Amino acid sequence: VKASDLGEFGLIARIAAVAGKGASEDLVAGIGDDAAVWLTGGEYAVATTDTMVAGVHFRPGLSPWWDVGWKALAVNISDIAAMGGWPRFALVTLCLPPDTAVEDVEALYEGLQSAARICGGVTIAGGDTVRSAEFGITVAVIGRADQRDDEPLILRRSGARVGDVIAVTGHLGDAAAGLRRLDAGADTDDPLVRAHLLPRPQLAAGAIAAANGLRCAIDVSDGLLQDLGHICEASGVGAVVRGPDIPLSAGLLAAYPEEALELACTGGEDYQLVLTGPEHLVRDTLQEADLEDAAVIGEVAEDPSHAVRLLDEHGRDITFGRPGWDAFRS
Ligand SMILES: [Mg+2]
Repeated sequence: VKASDLGEFGLIARIAAVAGKGASEDLVAGIGDDAAVWLTGGEYAVATTDTMVAGVHFRPGLSPWWDVGWKALAVNISDIAAMGGWPRFALVTLCLPPDTAVEDVEALYEGLQSAARICGGVTIAGGDTVRSAEFGITVAVIGRADQRDDEPLILRRSGARVGDVIAVTGHLGDAAAGLRRLDAGADTDDPLVRAHLLPRPQLAAGAIAAANGLRCAIDVSDGLLQDLGHICEASGVGAVVRGPDIPLSAGLLAAYPEEALELACTGGEDYQLVLTGPEHLVRDTLQEADLEDAAVIGEVAEDPSHAVRLLDEHGRDITFGRPGWDAFRS
C-alpha cells in the first residue's frame, strides 16, 4: 500500500497504531490533535512541529525567503493557538542544498525571528542543519497551557457537543486566492498574496477561548470543511455550516466573485481558528478577542456519519469537488 492510496489521514491512523502504544500517563493529548499536551513539572506543556518543503508548501523564486521563515514559525504557533496554549521556545531544522546562498538563509532567519518576536514572544533555542537535494524547513514549538483546579485549559478536536455553535475568527479564502494570484504573477505586496505568505496566528483568541471555558478548536490549515470534519470525527458529531455567514473579505469577493465561497471552504492556509461551544461563551470570546471579521457560521448537530453540511441561503446543500488539502493526494 502506498501513502498516496491511504491519503494523509489514513496514514496518520496507521502511524498512531504503532507510535501510540505504551504512551506515558502524563500525556494528555497525543497524535491526532493540533498539538500534543503533556504534564511536566506540574505544568502542561504544549508541543507541535510542522515542515515546509520547496515546491510543495511554497513557490521557490516566488515566495521571498523572509516570508518563508515567517510562515514556517507562524503555522506552528497557529497549532499552539488551536490548543489554547502559549508558545515559548522553537527548534529549527534546515534541509539545504549546498549551493544555497547564505544571504537567503539569513533572510529566512530574519523572517523567523520577526514571527518569533511578534507572535507570542518565542525564543529560537536551537536546531539542526543538514544537506539535502531540496530545501525544507522543520520547526518545532513548545509552549504551555494554563490550568484551573489541576486541569489544563485546552481546546481539543474532541470537545464539540451537539447544540454548540461554530465560529471562525476571521476571513477565510484569502490565502488560497493569494496563492493563485502569486502563481499568476501578482506582486508580493498584493493583500491576498500577503494573506498566503504571512499568516497571523490567532494566539489571543485561542487563549481567551480556553480561559472562557470553551473546549474545542482547530486551526484552518487544510480548508474549513476538512478541518471542521476533523472536529466532527474526533467529537462524534456532525456540523451544519451556513455558507452566507462565512466571513469573506472585500478583496476576495472582488478578485474571485464566483469562487469566493469555494476558496473559503476548501482553500486552507488561512490559519484562523474554528471554535465551537455554547453560544454565549463563543460570542463573549469573539468580542473579548476584538475580532472584527469573526462570525458564527453554524451549529454542531447529531449525525452518526460525522458529516459537515454546507448550506446555501435557501437551506440547500452545497458540495465542492474536494473538501481540502491532503499531503499525499494531488
Ligand atoms: Mg492544526
